[in-house]
Amino acid sequence: MTQGIPGIHHATAIASDPQRNLDFYADVLGLRLVKRTVNFDDPGTYHFYFGDGLGHPGTILTFFPWPNARQGQRGTGQAVTTSFSVPAGSLGWWRDRLRAREVPFETPLSRFEEEALVFYDPDGLQFELVAHSGADDQYLWREGPIPAEHALRGFYGVALALEGYERTAALLTETMGFRLLVESGNRYRFQADAGVPGSILDVLCVPVGQRGRVAAGTVHHVAWRTPNDTAQRAWRERFAGLGLNVTPVLDRKYFQSIYFREPGGVLFEIATDTPGFTLDESPDELGSVLRLPSWLEPRRAEIAQALPKLHLPG
Ligand code: ZN
Repeated sequence: MTQGIPGIHHATAIASDPQRNLDFYADVLGLRLVKRTVNFDDPGTYHFYFGDGLGHPGTILTFFPWPNARQGQRGTGQAVTTSFSVPAGSLGWWRDRLRAREVPFETPLSRFEEEALVFYDPDGLQFELVAHSGADDQYLWREGPIPAEHALRGFYGVALALEGYERTAALLTETMGFRLLVESGNRYRFQADAGVPGSILDVLCVPVGQRGRVAAGTVHHVAWRTPNDTAQRAWRERFAGLGLNVTPVLDRKYFQSIYFREPGGVLFEIATDTPGFTLDESPDELGSVLRLPSWLEPRRAEIAQALPKLHLPG
């Protein structure tokens, strides 16, 4: 039996205005911009990576900001909520901050053993801050604008809205190594190997829900971790053997990726922990310069010229 998936590697969502996206995540939420590059498949678009101080897997939230993106629709076949961990007792502080920054949020709620604060980014993307005693001090950006005692500590998990439940549950538990932890109402909580950020996956069973449409304000895909290329090739064979339509290995420079749709329609990626975001920038320099993959370097001047101009955080 091979090892299961440890947890989330990154989540990728669609935004509209790049500057507004950068300001929200770097300034309001206090994540570090750990990489500023372009969409390798569409180099006229930025690709922003936000994370903890070093961009550890399990802390990385990425965006494709399309200035004229139309508004998406949150719904079934999507990851509808992405959750970050904050220390127990931090939600009051965060509620004050979100209110002061005019960020829409909802009344905090209790769920299982945790407290959660739902809020929305400027494109309407839905998040939660989950306050719990297991929030890990290893995964924060200490030099950002948020006091360390309240700073985000990587992902807590994601929630998928699905019309059905069984085929996805079977994939999660029989192949990917998740176990069903607890259920309540239409929420089925799965956990990957405990002990890393982003190990929670909630399936929300919404049989008559509206189908989601991916555009601004929605999650494009969720990437799950695997340690290296060898382990990734084994995952690829396993998913292909189940009849899933899995892509070849794609070079994302900071990790290698394969993609497939899980049975409920959510786009999953399996991404390697290696080589990581310090491949082409030192820890001090992360995010400071536009980075391009080698095959786009010859077009750097043209690409940089066409991208929207940005004011960088800090
Ligand atoms: Zn990805």
